Formats: sequence, structure tokens, C-alpha cells
Amino acid sequence: HGEVDFKADAKFAQHLEKAEAVSDFAKSKTLSQQRQFLPIFSVRDELLQVIRENQVVVVVGETGSGKTTQLTQYLHEEGYTRNGIVGCTQPRRVAAVSVAKRVSEEMETELGDTVGYAIRFEDVTGPKTVIKYMIDGILLRETLKDPDLDKYSVIVMDEAHERSLNTDVLFGILKKVVSRRRDFKLIVTSATLDAKKFADFFGGAEIFKIPGRTFPVQNLYHEDPCEDYVEAAVKQAMKIHMSSAPGDILVFLTGQDEIEAARQALSERMEEFVSSTNQPISKMLILPLYSQLAADSQAKVFQKAEDGIRKCIIATNVAETSLTIDGVFSVIDSGFCKMKVYNPRMGMDALQVFPVSRAAADQRSGRAGRTGPGTCYRLYTQSAYRNELLPSPVPEIQRTNLCQVVLLLKSLQVENLLDFDFMDPPPEDNILNSLYQLWVLGALDNVGNLTELGWKMVEFPLDPPLAKMLLTGEILGCTNEILTIVSMLSVPSVFFRPKDRAEESDAAREQFFEQESDHLTLLNVYKRWEAEAKQYRGEWCNVNFLHGKRLLKAREVRSQLLDILKTLKIPLSSCGRDRKIVRKAICSAYFQNAAGFKGVGEYINCRNGMPCHLHPSSALYGSGCTPEFVVYHEVILTTKEYMQCATPVEPRWLAELGPMFFSMRDSTSSMLEHKIKQKVVKTAMDEEMENLRKIQAEAEKK
Ligand code: ADP
Ligand code: MG
Repeated sequence: HGEVDFKADAKFAQHLEKAEAVSDFAKSKTLSQQRQFLPIFSVRDELLQVIRENQVVVVVGETGSGKTTQLTQYLHEEGYTRNGIVGCTQPRRVAAVSVAKRVSEEMETELGDTVGYAIRFEDVTGPKTVIKYMIDGILLRETLKDPDLDKYSVIVMDEAHERSLNTDVLFGILKKVVSRRRDFKLIVTSATLDAKKFADFFGGAEIFKIPGRTFPVQNLYHEDPCEDYVEAAVKQAMKIHMSSAPGDILVFLTGQDEIEAARQALSERMEEFVSSTNQPISKMLILPLYSQLAADSQAKVFQKAEDGIRKCIIATNVAETSLTIDGVFSVIDSGFCKMKVYNPRMGMDALQVFPVSRAAADQRSGRAGRTGPGTCYRLYTQSAYRNELLPSPVPEIQRTNLCQVVLLLKSLQVENLLDFDFMDPPPEDNILNSLYQLWVLGALDNVGNLTELGWKMVEFPLDPPLAKMLLTGEILGCTNEILTIVSMLSVPSVFFRPKDRAEESDAAREQFFEQESDHLTLLNVYKRWEAEAKQYRGEWCNVNFLHGKRLLKAREVRSQLLDILKTLKIPLSSCGRDRKIVRKAICSAYFQNAAGFKGVGEYINCRNGMPCHLHPSSALYGSGCTPEFVVYHEVILTTKEYMQCATPVEPRWLAELGPMFFSMRDSTSSMLEHKIKQKVVKTAMDEEMENLRKIQAEAEKK
């Protein structure tokens, strides 16, 4: 490890004094004093003037300068909320919620009153709300009903540097709104230096830079590539804690599992140290931070620890730019993050671990220099940083499945997707592939127009396959059951499996198994929770190893989806005890995810031949039941490709519901035939698209 004795640095010592002054400041001052201390405050008036004089402004400022929390308030104070709402989009749900909370505190109002937020399936706004934080996908959906976004006077597109899929699509849509509505203002914020690209996209928008107030950060590299970055991170955190280095620690790992593992290891290591050496060490508060974390645990991250207690926050890249935590002096960077990337082999998006980009690594390192000079421990080599990392991240639009976006754009009457005003257009193959998948689901017709089914699917804020499942439920008369299944699939797993009580919790889960189908098992859990847990929900959930909050969330999702069904005049129907009908509706959503039996616990995807395994937690696993075909919700990649949520289906359903893929004769033995057929269909679709493009090109010439 390239360690440098940074304490010997005289300049550093000077900084340290200043730093302590700064962090004391944050601790002792009121919220309004804290507001005035933010870098953006010093340029408030200039900024507002630039906004007054320009319709589109790109605001650049270091993370933590106050863009997200202050801009909206300034606009409100300046009167922009008199004739409309100030909306602020966020690519991450955690950030939308947490920032809205903070701003409502700063403005001393109840959350949901003047200040509110909206994320998928959760709308905490009211009639008086004039500052609305929302996930970017929400605003995108609002453009369906209100193409000119008339209720907004200003939109702040926050965190544009993240280049999330929905933000990228919004760029193209808002550009049109800007040209149609003179009274509308658009502000794009970015934490990095790609501002010019954004400004150019809007035909040369004004760029406003917020002066930074940051301290130097020393980057220390590993001498050799490290084999296990979770272990290395734990060790490094211990080392920092035992040294007298000041301030809190922020560790970047890739996801919940790693974070929980690191948290456990770190607290065990601390205990071990104390008991083996009998040396007292000062306390350390270990706090996880990831998007699925309950709100109260998230809030802890921002609270000051008691004097003398060090915080060690173990986070995903949500702490990279979206959330700013003051008081961090040391950053430990694994150099990795999880990203959703289209995996052509699996035929779907998969969350996979990738090295971060240099820009992201620099952002992470910068987190150590917020309140004072800091140190960033990079768990990778300097040569990896220089030669292996990409300079900046690949925008999501260029690496993920575009089905939902394509469906939305189609319904916004964007005829030719290849001509949509994308800042960075997605690869043509991606678009074609999504068109193809939507066609297979029956959302598009042979020339790529939305079908009646497609128009209905757009109404649901769901992945197209789940919307399809719901609408097949209508045809087969089981919307009641499918509604529950879709809602349960829209929340994180309700099964609670603590490591130290694995067997007990597995036994509890097994009681809910139904017909060897994981989907039906979810249905069963929900029904029993509704029926049996009337009064003592908490206790009932504990006994059954279920996450009560997630079940409540599922119920909320369910009631919102039910509202959409009502507006579409789709009646609630039930198939009673006939579970076969439910399985058939499930089957209709997942042609891409049909798999044939290969051997015990092992299946093969019928379309691309990928092996996929039953997960040990599945109702099918070890049940002795070996259905010839199953469909699954998704594949998760860990040590193997595991099917997540599988249900046995009958081969004739596949033939009946997905005739373009399967015929009655088909079985796993004629995989080749499948493949050829699939290829033919795909080629036919490509040709259609090619024709369509020609027709459009010619129309344009005229
Ligand atoms: P930017 O958007 O420029 O990165 P923010 O407006 O998010 O900056 O943050 C400004 C300040 O507000 C930071 O010092 C941050 O610590 C504080 N802050 C933001 N959200 C919260 C919160 N939920 N709780 C406490 N402080 C917060
Ligand atoms: Mg921000």
C-alpha cells in the first residue's frame, strides 16, 4: 500500500485547523445559518439574474454546493412559484425523498405541504405543493398527459451528469417544451464539467459556475490489484479508525449484500480487537447507505454522531454525487459499482459489477474534501486508474434495454425513434431489439405502431412484461390475482432471511409455497397476510420471517394499480381456486424467459440456450417436481445464472400465447428449430423496420 505520512505535511496541519472550524460550524449553527454558508449562497443574486435573462441555464457546481436543496428555494423566494410549480427531477429515488425532507425542514413546513416529492408508487405532494422533487421517470410519465407541462413554471433537471435513461429522454422532450412555451424555464445542473455538452444541446444555453469551496484530497493507491475489495475496505477502515486520523469515513462498495457483509465484518473485527488486546478503542458508528434502506436508517447517515464517536458510512454510489454527507475526511474507494447493462446472452438487463470511470473515482475522492482536507484510499493501482478506467461513464441509454422508453415515446407520437433528438443516440440495435420485444409482447403491430394492447400498457408505470401480465389477467378473468402478483414483484423481496436464523426462516417461507410456483407463493403470502394479520401485523410478520413494511408497500402499489385499472374500465375479476388460469396469465408475460428442463435444478432458456438454475429459495427447488417448462421473472447473476421467481407452465400455453416462438411440436430437443424460427422472425422485423425507415426518409425529402 503506497502509504504516505500525510500528517507530517505542514500545510495539511493548517488545513486541519480550518477544517475543524468548518465542521464545528455545521454542528452549532441553525439551518438558516447553514444555508447561508453554502457556496451557492454567495452567488445567489447573480444566479437569479442569469435565470431571469435566459430561458435555459446550465448550472455547474461541486457536489455539496447547494444546487439541489437551494435552487428550488431561491426560485420560490423569487416568485417563480406564483404561476406554477418548481419541479426538480432526480435520477435516484433515495435522493428525491431525502432532499425533499431536508428542504421542508429548512422551510419549516410539513413534508407534502409546500414541499413534496413523488417517486414511483409514492406521491407525497398536496394541493399547496409548489416545490416538487421527483424521480425523472415521473416527469417523463407526466408528459404523456400534459405534453407542455403547463403546471410547471420551472423544471430543474438535477444531476444531469448521471445521464440516467429517463433524464436523457427528458432532454429531448423538454427541448420541445422550451421552444413551445416562452414562459417556461429550464435549469440543468451538473456536478462535473460536461456542462458545455448540455449547453450545446439546447443551442448554446448560458452556463453558470458556482465557485467551489473544497479542500485538497490526497489519493493513495494500492500497490497491487486487490483480490477482495470488501475485505480490503474493512481492513482499511479499521486502520484509519485506530490511527488518530480525524473525521468520518465513507466507504464505496457496490451493493446491499457487500455493504451488509462489510458492516458485519467491521463490527466483529472491532470486538475481536478489543477482546484480544484488552485495549479500549473509541466507538465507531457503522452506517449502511443504499437505496432499499428504510427511511429512518437513511436519516441516521446525516445525523451528527455524539462527540468522540466516529461515523463509518458504507454506501453505494448514491453517496457519489446525489447525497452529500458532511464531516467525511477519509474515503475508501473499491473502484467498482453496480450498473444495469443489457446482456445480449441473457436477452435482458442485468445488474453487474463494473469498474467505475475516472470521473466517478474523482467524485468519490472529492467526498473526502468537503469539510476539510482529506484522504482517499483507492483499493486499486495507480496504473489501473490511469490506463484501465474509462474517462467517463457510459450513459444508461447506450447500455440498457429501452422497452419502456420506446413504448412511452411511441405513445408520445414519436414516429421514428431513430430520429428522436437524443443527446447521445442509443445504438440502433438497442432500439430495434426493444421494438422487437414489444412486438413479441403484442404492444406493437407489424409496422411498429402501438396496438390497442400497447396503448393500455403505456398507462401502467410498470415494465412492459408486467403490464402485459395484468392485461392478460383481464382476458383470462383473474385481474385480482395478477394485481397482487405484480405488486409483490414491484417491491423488494418480502422474505426475511437473517444469516443466523437461516433454517428457521427457510422453514417459515416453505409454509407459503404453492403449487411449486414462486409467483403463486407470493400471491399466497399476500393473501394470508391480509387475512391473518389483521391486528398484530408486526408480530405476524416476525413469526413468519416477512418484511412487514414491504408488504404494506405492496398493498399501496396494488391500490394504485387498481386505480389505473378503474380508469381503464377494466373490472376486477377472480378465477377463484383455479390457479392454472393464473399461471397461464403469468406465462403470457414471459416468452423471453421461458426455459426447458435439462436436469435436476437446471433449465435452458428456450430462446437463447442460456443455462439457468433454480434458486435454492425457489418453491421448485428440491420439490421433486420437474416441470418440462418454466417461465421466470428475471435471472440474477451470482455464482451461477439463477432464475428469480419461477413458475411451471404447460408447453401448449407457450405455443398458444407466443406462436411466433413456439409451436406444439417444439420441445427442448428442437432448440435449433426454435432458433431458426426466431431468426426468421427477427429478420422479418428488421426488414419491416428498414422499410419503415425508407418510407420516412422519402416522406421527409418531399
Ligand atoms: P448539491 O446538490 O450541490 O450537491 P445539496 O443541495 O444536495 O448540494 O447539499 C447542500 C448541503 O445540504 C450539504 O451540505 C448537505 O450536507 C446538506 N444536506 C442535503 N441533504 C441533507 C439531508 N437530508 N440532511 C442533512 N443535510 C443535508
Ligand atoms: Mg445535488
